Formats: sequence, C-alpha cells, structure tokens
Amino acid sequence: AQMRESRIKKTKTVCTYCGVGCSFDIWTKDRKILKVEPQMEAPANQVSTCVKGKFGWDFVNSTERILQPLIRKGREFVPVTWEEALDYTAAKLREIKERDGADAIGYISSSKCTNEENYLMQKFARAVMGTNNIDNCSRYCQTPATEGLRRTFGLGGDTGSIEDIGSSELVIIVGANPAESHPVLSTRIRRAHKKHGQKLIVADLRKNDLAKRADLFLHPKPGTDLIWLSAVAKYIIDQNWHDKEFIEAHVNGFEEFVNWLKPYTLEYAEQQTGISKQQLIDTATMIHSVHSVCICWAMGVTQHIAGSETSTAICNLLLVTGNVGRRGTGAYPLRGHNNVQGAGDFGCAPLYLPGYERVDDPAVKAKYESVWNAKIPENPGLDNHHMVEKIHEGKLKAMYVMGEEMALVDSNSNHVQGAFEKLEFFIVQDIFFSKTAQFADVILPGCPSLEKDGTFTNTERRMQRLYKVFEPLGEAKPDWWILTELAKRLGVDWGYEHPAQILEEATALTELMAGVTYERLEGYKSLQWPVDKDGKDTPLLYTNGFPFSDGKAKLHIPVYHEPVLQPDEEYDLHLNNGRLLEHFHEGNLTYRVPGIRKKVPTTFVEVSPELARERGVETGSLVRIVSPYGAVKVRVEVTDRVQGKELYLPMNTPKDEEAVNYLTSSYHDAITHTPAYKELSVRMEVLQKE
Ligand code: SF4
Repeated sequence: AQMRESRIKKTKTVCTYCGVGCSFDIWTKDRKILKVEPQMEAPANQVSTCVKGKFGWDFVNSTERILQPLIRKGREFVPVTWEEALDYTAAKLREIKERDGADAIGYISSSKCTNEENYLMQKFARAVMGTNNIDNCSRYCQTPATEGLRRTFGLGGDTGSIEDIGSSELVIIVGANPAESHPVLSTRIRRAHKKHGQKLIVADLRKNDLAKRADLFLHPKPGTDLIWLSAVAKYIIDQNWHDKEFIEAHVNGFEEFVNWLKPYTLEYAEQQTGISKQQLIDTATMIHSVHSVCICWAMGVTQHIAGSETSTAICNLLLVTGNVGRRGTGAYPLRGHNNVQGAGDFGCAPLYLPGYERVDDPAVKAKYESVWNAKIPENPGLDNHHMVEKIHEGKLKAMYVMGEEMALVDSNSNHVQGAFEKLEFFIVQDIFFSKTAQFADVILPGCPSLEKDGTFTNTERRMQRLYKVFEPLGEAKPDWWILTELAKRLGVDWGYEHPAQILEEATALTELMAGVTYERLEGYKSLQWPVDKDGKDTPLLYTNGFPFSDGKAKLHIPVYHEPVLQPDEEYDLHLNNGRLLEHFHEGNLTYRVPGIRKKVPTTFVEVSPELARERGVETGSLVRIVSPYGAVKVRVEVTDRVQGKELYLPMNTPKDEEAVNYLTSSYHDAITHTPAYKELSVRMEVLQKE
C-alpha cells in the first residue's frame, strides 16, 4: 500500500492550451492523471480553469503518440534509432546548406514548446545553420497587433495584466471570443460585471457568449473595425472629451491625427460599417463616462489585410482617451496559444533576436556572435508566408517544422501542401502524426509539456515554470534535447544538460528579461517582462513614459484597406472562423482526449435561422462550402449566434479534409503577412437536407 501511495505525486504545471496561462497542480499515479487542482497562488487564474485545462490532458497517453523516430523510405515511414535519425538529418542539412546556401532552408518554431526550446530553435537556425529564416505561428495571429503596439506605444505586448482587465470600469472586446478562446479571462470579466458593475462593449460578427451579456453589442460589416474605431475617436475629440493633459505630456502627433480623422464622421462610419450613429455615440459616451478602459482584441481584428492598421487604430483610441499606463487600462491583444508570446520573445522571428533586438543592429549582432561563438547573418530572413512562396519558386529546398500543424493551420492549405510536396528535405518534429508530418522525410518525436521542464510566457508577458510530470513516452525526447543533439552532429556542442542552463544564457543576453532565472520563477512565482537584473518585473507597462527617444507615445496614422474577397454572385456568403470552447485550435490535441471528443465529436458550420429558411437547411443538414481555393463538406448548425449571410466554421476538426483553411486564401496583412483568414466569401451547396 505504501508503494502504491508513493507512486502518487503532485506536480506544478502550466496549461498547454491558451494564452491565459493558467497554472495548477496535476496529481498523477504512474502515467495516469488523477486530477488537476488549481491553487489560489496561481497568478493568472487562482482557482479557475476551463474544461481544457481541467480535463484536456489524456492526449499525452494516446496510442497515436509517435514513439520512435521515423524516416521515409518511398511511401512508407520506417522506425529508426535516434542515432540513425539524427545522423541522417544532420547529413541532409549539411548537404543542402553546402550546395544551395544557408538561406535555402527554413525553420518554424512552436508556440507549444517552451521558451528554452524556442530560443534553441532560433539559435540552431542562426548560429549553427547561418540563416535568419525562422518564424513561428504568431505570424498567423497576433503579429499585426504587435506591429500596432510597437508603432504607437513602443513594445509588442499586452500593456497590463489580467488583473487590470478585471479591475477596469469598461472593457471593450473587438473581434475576440474569450468565452471560448480564453475562458478563464471571460470568467474574470463576468465576475467583474457582477462585483463592481464593470461595463462591457463587444464588437463582433458573431453574438458570442460575452456579446450576449454585453451592455452594448456592435455588429460591424466584416473588415470595417478601423472605421468605427476612428469615428469614435473623432467624436470623442469633437466633444472635447479627449484627455488633453495626457496627450500634452505623453503623446506625439495629435494635430496630424485630428486632421486625418476629418472624414471619419458618424454618418460615414454608419454607412461603411453598418453600426448605427446612436451606437457609435453610445460607445464614445461610455468611454467618456469612466476612468479606466481596457480594449481586448484577437483574430477578428488581426486576420485581415489591414490587421496591423486596425490594431493601430485601437492603440490610437486608447492614447487620445489617456487609457494607457494606469491600473485598469490598456491594450490587450489576447494571445491564442499558451506560449506564442514566448516564441516571439525568444527570437523566433526573421528580424528579431531574443528580447526583440534586431538582427541588423551591429551592436546586437556582435553581442550574439561573441556569446554564441559563431557568425550570424544580418540580413532579415523569410517569414512563414515567404517560405511557402519561396518553395514554390524553387528557392527554398528544405524545412524544419517543430510542433506546428502548418499544413492545416496556414491559410490556403492546398497551396501550402503543394509547397511541402516540392521540398527536397522536410523535417517534422511533433508528438502526433499530423497532416504536416505526412509530407515529411524524417519525423522526430518530441514531447508534450507534461514530459519536460521549462517556462512558458502567457498573454500578460508573464513567465512561469512548468515541471516535468512524466518521463517521455517510448523513445520520444524533449525538443530541446533533439535540437542539442542535432547541433552536436553539425559540429557545435552546446553542452546543455537541463533547460535551466538554456534560460540562463538566453535571458542574460536580453535587456528585456535580464533578471529572469529559474530560482526567481520557482513554484508558482512568476515574472512579467521587462525584468531588470535585480529581478524587478513590470506588471504594468508605460507608467514612466514610452520607450521612444523623447519618452512619448505616437499617434500613428493608419491606412484603411477595403477587405478583399467580398461576397459576389458566385460566392455569396461571408465565412468567418474561430475556436470552440471544448477544442483547441485545429484539434490535434483535444480530439485525442476521449472525454472531450465524446462531448463534441465533430465540427459544424453555423448558419443563421434566416439563411437556413432561405436555403431549406436545418441542424444536421450536410452542405459543401466552396471558396475559390477549395471545398469542405460539413454539417449545419442553425443558430442565431450568426446573422444573415454570415457563416461561421470552427477551425477544429477531427477530419483533416474538413479544415477551414482549405477554403481560405493567400491574401495577407500588408505589413506583417498575417493571412487574411477572416476575409473570405464562399457559396453553400446543400448535399442533404437533414
Ligand atoms: Fe486556462 Fe486557457 Fe488552459 Fe483554459 S485553456 S485552463 S483558460 S490556460
């Protein structure tokens, strides 16, 4: 009995799903997960979790885990030893680099991997292989928000903490669905409403759960958020409600901004966005009548050709109303994945080294070259959009994708998969045989978060430790180990034996995270960057001005682009897409959790009651959704969450062929190349009425 009991253990971990970054104790017996127990001291969630954090872990024991390295032999994948897999991979990488140059290979890192592993992936690309062709999935989501924030406030992160969203007097949510995508944050907002009468405005195409509870629900025409946000800013200034003192002391560019705003009248905004003048006035009045406003946004804003510009318009509105740098205020682009913030923070981007230091800054380059003892390139690399295009052009010959389901998650899947077919050599590191893995030449089995030590950074810029719960299953290995072994075979012995050494090296190189150490993150302790050498962190940014030469923020003039692919005769419906509460992202993890799969076994397309009547479909009808780029078959769910000719297709699916990105295009945000996933017209063909 004693032995049995000693096999029961409790380990602190951080959730592997969304960017809220819930942490909790996980109780296990051998490889069995007994329960998830959140703790009061958990900084982002205290005693809350959502269904995924609480019940979404059984995928780690799935019989579908890849347990041994695999090498393609013709149409088959053959299990091999690690020695064989690593020697083969290193030899192919060396051969391609020597023949076609370092820039003929691209690297994609993972928001599911730890900060340490992300740091190593970019170090591998830059210092071992000699290219800046490194990117991560923030390109698919919040890079436009980062751009908007950087232009105006200076730093690419949420300006405050979840605590600030909770204590704010007014929360505005634009193009985000926290009730399903960031559930614990949504609980926080609902509680704030009850506890201190927090007001809520939701702007979205869909009447999602929080929209139903909002004091004001705005339903703009797709892709027109920049217009109504700017009209509200203009109305506030016209009423003399702007924060003159704050602007005078902390903001540049006011006169030019006011001049640019001239055409954004209420009439123009009403006509362009479909939001009534009265609702625009109500929005402005609500902002004016409180002392603290937070604006949260997500993919509904960023996944447009003007994603960066709309993000900028949000920041501008916060600046003219003085809602930055105080408790309860600020800008919150809600990060989707648990560690997408960290993947960017640790340098998995073609232009930025860790801490957002530029690769083309000679002083930065010299610093890294001396610590890494390697020459690194100064020309910015390819982002993931460019990588796909360069494969099609025959210029990128090989790719190394770590923990990213790029074949289904990048937009225009047929185009992306067509590129993968052309690759001469393709390394996929994953825990499951994903769609992407089907195109691989070598598959390296990595580990899920429960099988490794490390740190994650949540949407609040908060770094937290996760501790190893299980030993790796089968022959799977932590991703940092795989990268270290591969580097060794390419002639560079990093000598890491534990992720703590990696974090120490990485944070010491940056100004942003200089004082972050494992000791300072022990247990439930956490740090929000910037963290100075003494370990002092920054829950709230910009309390002492903005990181520009004169310490002032900038009102940046955004450029509006009309959405592409608007409905026409052939493709007469607008298709929106996003997440579901029970499933995460494309569903590779949650569909392998039997309890969750039983609850929500499949995907569906949401159709409005009026459209259902017009087309003669009902819940359960089978339809084919067709876009200019592909088609998927899916069942209908009739719901008033969507209106008129707007459809909604969740992005998760147990069947690869139903993935929404077979429909999406290659149009993208002009500045960051984030795909315009949300700008899409389709037609609906009815296959079976019930
Ligand atoms: Fe928390 Fe997000 Fe995990 Fe749910 S999915 S437990 S909200 S971190």
